[in-house]
Amino acid sequence: MTARPAAAGATWRCDTASADATRSLGRALAACLVGGEVITLDGDLGAGKTCFAQGLAEGLGIPPDEVSSPTFVIRHEHHGRVPLAHLDFYRLDDPDEIEWLDLLDAREDAVLVIEWAENVPAALPADRLAVRLTPGSGSDERVFEWSATGPVAERALLALMRRS
Ligand code: ADP
Ligand code: MG
Repeated sequence: MTARPAAAGATWRCDTASADATRSLGRALAACLVGGEVITLDGDLGAGKTCFAQGLAEGLGIPPDEVSSPTFVIRHEHHGRVPLAHLDFYRLDDPDEIEWLDLLDAREDAVLVIEWAENVPAALPADRLAVRLTPGSGSDERVFEWSATGPVAERALLALMRRS
């Protein structure tokens, strides 16, 4: 096996033209995950982060309507082909809270999906698949900018790129 540098640095850009297409992209990523990946989703309210997370959940065999934007609970656990922990830091007032809550602790075989990860930058694992969602030219278009910051994330991103 070839050794890979710790900060692998693969990037990719793609877009979707509808919420369905975003869910489908989430399902496609799910098919590339084996457990242990951390995926961060950043972008304004309504960007499509939860929509994407629903598709991803569905791809892991989790009913997508189990996945919603958490209101006051900021972590939800789901049980699919691999376990999914869905976190949303939109409402996190004090980044220090996450230390005592151990929110980022997860089983090694779980997939962690984190909405509004930029609200907790210091706490994020080094190896993650960072996704930024921005509006595209039409009202239903969304641009996805992907960046893998370590070998685990890069493996998943390259697999997704090969499928698309
Ligand atoms: P966020 O979690 O980023 O705040 P949501 O996923 O909850 O955003 O909401 C996205 C909204 O935008 C939904 O109402 C969805 O139907 C709509 N939408 C329109 N086009 C798209 C698209 N291409 N991808 C994702 N959502 C879209
Ligand atoms: Mg959301």
